[in-house]
Amino acid sequence: MVQHAKNTEIKSLLDLQKTFPTEEACREELAKARWNGKPVCVHCGSSRKIYKIAGGRLYKCADCRKPFSVKMGTIFEDSALPLQKWFMALWFLSAHKKGVSSMQLSRDINVTQKTAWFMLHRIRYAMKTPEFNKPMNGTVEVDETFIGGKTHGQGRGYMQPNKTAVFGMAERNGEIRAQSVKHADGKTLKPIIRENIDSDAIISSDEFGAYKDLDKEFKNHVIVIHSQKEYVNGIAHTNNIEGFWSILKRGIYGIYHSASKKHIDKYVDEFEYRYNTRKMKDAQRFNMILNRLSGHLTYVKLISEN
Ligand SMILES: [Zn+2]
Repeated sequence: MVQHAKNTEIKSLLDLQKTFPTEEACREELAKARWNGKPVCVHCGSSRKIYKIAGGRLYKCADCRKPFSVKMGTIFEDSALPLQKWFMALWFLSAHKKGVSSMQLSRDINVTQKTAWFMLHRIRYAMKTPEFNKPMNGTVEVDETFIGGKTHGQGRGYMQPNKTAVFGMAERNGEIRAQSVKHADGKTLKPIIRENIDSDAIISSDEFGAYKDLDKEFKNHVIVIHSQKEYVNGIAHTNNIEGFWSILKRGIYGIYHSASKKHIDKYVDEFEYRYNTRKMKDAQRFNMILNRLSGHLTYVKLISEN
């Protein structure tokens, strides 16, 4: 990760504005996050000789002679919004533990709610855990829950009307990964478990049938029997993932009021990211999001997945 020495001391919105007082300062920071001091031509990939034009707002490549901006090829590309507003939005999402609604953000940075909504969804997208994460290991709790909808259906394993099933895995003293699933059954959940968890790991779950036979594929499978009001049995419990579910639900119902099925994963990503960076300072979290926004994401990729 690129180190941003000057903004590790940011502790408040005021500090943020002092550190990046102008559009130019934001642009320089984004360039640093993106290229680490050595601009690369967006058109031909050359970094041999790049010079600034238009008073520093644009770059020009000496090889292909084409101009480009630091925003090109990132999620900021099509946005006419000043980077200063983006930086503020990043700060709010970094510093507010429960998240920010589009209504609140629109007031805070003076944009329309629609604009705020798009900004938040782009930032959430960037918060997604990178795809090539190493497998989870040690003791890993697995559990599923249902989010949204007004119907309080009974039973597990099948879709409850209006509700979205979310499956999660929590590495003890480590990270959490969660995603929505079409069905909370073994056929759906086991491939996700195999894909994310090392076969040397110990699985910890409740007695739900979808997790049956995991002991044959993993080092061990320990079970806590919730239906008998048992919540901890030696190392068998699901307290970490359940703690995450309660933060997620409080967040979705309290701040966002509701979440459509279509957008559940974006909220899950946001809460997962915040949980997994819980030991970081707000400034470190801000830097991490900025790095992700400027590097691995292209606007084309973003809209194709939306
Ligand atoms: Zn070029």
